[in-house]
Amino acid sequence: MSLSEITAKIEAACAKAGRDPRDVKLIAVSKVQPLDRVTAVLDEGHRLFGENRVQEAEGKWPGLRDQYGDVEVHLIGPLQSNKVRQAMQLFQAIHSVDRPKLAKSIARLAQEIGQCPDIFLQVNTGEEPQKAGVLPADADAFVAECRSLDLPVQGLMCIPPVDEEPSLHFALLAKIAERNGLAGLSMGMSGDFESAIALGATHVRVGSAIFGARVKG
Ligand SMILES: *Cc1c(COP(=O)(O)O)cnc(C)c1O
Repeated sequence: MSLSEITAKIEAACAKAGRDPRDVKLIAVSKVQPLDRVTAVLDEGHRLFGENRVQEAEGKWPGLRDQYGDVEVHLIGPLQSNKVRQAMQLFQAIHSVDRPKLAKSIARLAQEIGQCPDIFLQVNTGEEPQKAGVLPADADAFVAECRSLDLPVQGLMCIPPVDEEPSLHFALLAKIAERNGLAGLSMGMSGDFESAIALGATHVRVGSAIFGARVKG
């Protein structure tokens, strides 16, 4: 699908849900995509991208920013403690803050650097052992802890289990966000961004539907 087809689908989903399309940001997930597919989307004027590895983004975006000017890039994949400094210099938002130790090291560096990316806390809504994120039962306490560290917490993020109805997970994430007074909801991917929008998504992370299937990843 082309970028404009995705944008049209987002607008239709917003209209159906009675939402303003300006309240839904499309993060074009460019991980492991060949460079020519990424520059094609940049050439169409899109300026918000998502990457799930610090190393890969580091090799790609400084050069593309030289070429295209300001591009917002969000980290949507796991962040190791030893890459936090690099991540904070590279990304305008981190969607994968999933543990107190990571929150503390981001907060410490934010003090040192004097700035901090927007922060989304990842919730493991499906309570899957292999998946990152705090458990739903621990989410309120984690939000409170991150706020007490002065982190700019914008919202919550989830990746629903592959074999379950995603709407249930989107609804759960929305409920946790609402009771914590958080406006941001990073949810919805290529296969389910329309139902995520119906349930309040503010950031949809769409990769293969825009760029085509990933070669690996
Ligand atoms: C890869 C990835 C996406 C995009 O997935 P698609 O199915 O290609 O749209 C979204 N979110 C995260 C966290 C990802 O790692």
